[in-house]
Amino acid sequence: MKIGVLALQGAVAEHIKSLEQAGADQVVAVKWPSDLEGLDGLVLPGGESTTIGKLMHKYELMEPMREMAKRGVPMFGTCAGLILLAERINGQDWSHIGVLDALVDRNSFGRQVDSFEANLEVAGLEGDEPYPAVFIRAPHIMEVGPDVEVLCAYDDRIVTARQGNLLGASFHPELTDDVRLHKYFLGMVETAKASV
Ligand code: GLN
Repeated sequence: MKIGVLALQGAVAEHIKSLEQAGADQVVAVKWPSDLEGLDGLVLPGGESTTIGKLMHKYELMEPMREMAKRGVPMFGTCAGLILLAERINGQDWSHIGVLDALVDRNSFGRQVDSFEANLEVAGLEGDEPYPAVFIRAPHIMEVGPDVEVLCAYDDRIVTARQGNLLGASFHPELTDDVRLHKYFLGMVETAKASV
């Protein structure tokens, strides 16, 4: 199983470490279109979505990544990565990869709490323990389409959702030691690989 982590901005090393701890055989940093070859899954880290989107165009990654998502290669977007996946972004008439049937709102947890931690109940994770989530200028999902499964809401806001092979989280799973969400994603990758 070969997983890529988009390496244009954000906590790339932390995602690679979490994926390895979660049991991925091979994890590579993705910077160029050729790095996408042979990937069974791709993680899109947090950072600043407008900047990452611009860099994706500059490095000619936008189209190949959109094609990969449409072919059903599993993708996991965290924080800004979730914004990159979303079809609709509140207050703007354009999106980035635009494959997840959802409307997202950027920086939506208010300025006074730009960063915070919360214990979440995320559906589908191993065990009963709450999942410790780190939110940093986090987006939330305002609306989802009929094929989107809501895995977690916090404060009446959707913060984790899945549509087929696409997974999105508002927070930063790579910044905690709990790798259950990365494991969940690797499970999606295994299932997708087995069905090819
Ligand atoms: N606020 C950022 C954006 O809109 C996302 C923040 C993050 O990834 N930590 O892109």
